Amino acid sequence: GMKTDHFPSATPNVSDGLVRLSSNENAFGPSAKAVDAMQGELFNLARYSDATVDVLKSKIAAQEGVSEDQIIVTNGSSPILFGYADWITKNGNKLVTSMATYEGVPRGAEFMGADVTYVPLDADMNFDLDAIEAAVTEDTTAVYICNPNNPTGTVVDAAKLTAFAKRVSKKAQVFIDEAYIEMSDAYPANVQSKLVAEGHDVVICRTFSKIHAMAGQRLGYAILPAEQAKQLGGMLRMGGVNYLALVAGMASMEDHANLNTMRSRVKVEREKLTAAAESLGQAYAKNPQGNFIYMDTGMPHDEFAKLMKAQGIKVVGRTWPGYDTWSRISVGIPEETDACVKALKTVLA
Ligand code: PLP
Repeated sequence: GMKTDHFPSATPNVSDGLVRLSSNENAFGPSAKAVDAMQGELFNLARYSDATVDVLKSKIAAQEGVSEDQIIVTNGSSPILFGYADWITKNGNKLVTSMATYEGVPRGAEFMGADVTYVPLDADMNFDLDAIEAAVTEDTTAVYICNPNNPTGTVVDAAKLTAFAKRVSKKAQVFIDEAYIEMSDAYPANVQSKLVAEGHDVVICRTFSKIHAMAGQRLGYAILPAEQAKQLGGMLRMGGVNYLALVAGMASMEDHANLNTMRSRVKVEREKLTAAAESLGQAYAKNPQGNFIYMDTGMPHDEFAKLMKAQGIKVVGRTWPGYDTWSRISVGIPEETDACVKALKTVLA
């Protein structure tokens, strides 16, 4: 029968015994319908998956109000981020984003030689859209916005972002990474894919690694102007997309009950972490909307990570320039988050 409460929190082949709150994974696990769908297809692996990619595209097109030729599908969204970094270097070589944000596009672009401008976050640790707009010139290739932002979890006002993207995309393409968007309280009002449908020069990036809890299975997509989809999609095709991921992704997309439950479960766990930060008097990025919080621990990050590890908790292993005492902590299933709160109270008391 179908499992209903599938909590595969431990990673079976990682035996360090730690509670893993380091990678913004979704420990609640995938939709039981997704797992069932995969099980039904386990013997159907002989063929390349292109025809199934087209089926997923038609479902995304219907959900997002875009056309199928405005969608590319990849094994996780990371290939899109790195492919996009490469596209930047070939189209003017200049990116504007903020520090701190997810490194995929900016670091990828830097590796490839692009000129990256990092505009500081605002006082709420959110993207400062006015300052970013002021930093964009006619030479700018692209702007990277992550919404909700990793690591701060902040969400920018939907109407403000829409207006920003409409104006700024006349000068530079606006790339909006919506990896965590389905976890935000105001989903789907925060979704910006209609900008692509309306013909604005905007890219929306999504993943099945977060609310769908399929990080290990690898599936992501982008919604972008058709001409660029053809170009980037052709480059990133690389033999196609994992078939079982497509099967699971389609089942999960349609499991609205699971997605709604997941949004509330994540919120309950996230609020345990923000409550802990409040009661400990630690500064943190307010109103986080993903499955993580970003907190000032008041000590060098490495030291905090080591102390948490001694309590059995693995937190993110990296830090962001300018935020050396800040740590990003993901939520887990209830007993994992509870263990984390206990550890925080020991380490930061
Ligand atoms: N975008 C953001 C904002 C992320 O936080 C992540 C992963 O943590 C990704 C993209 C890439 O994830 P994936 O390649 O699993 O889709």
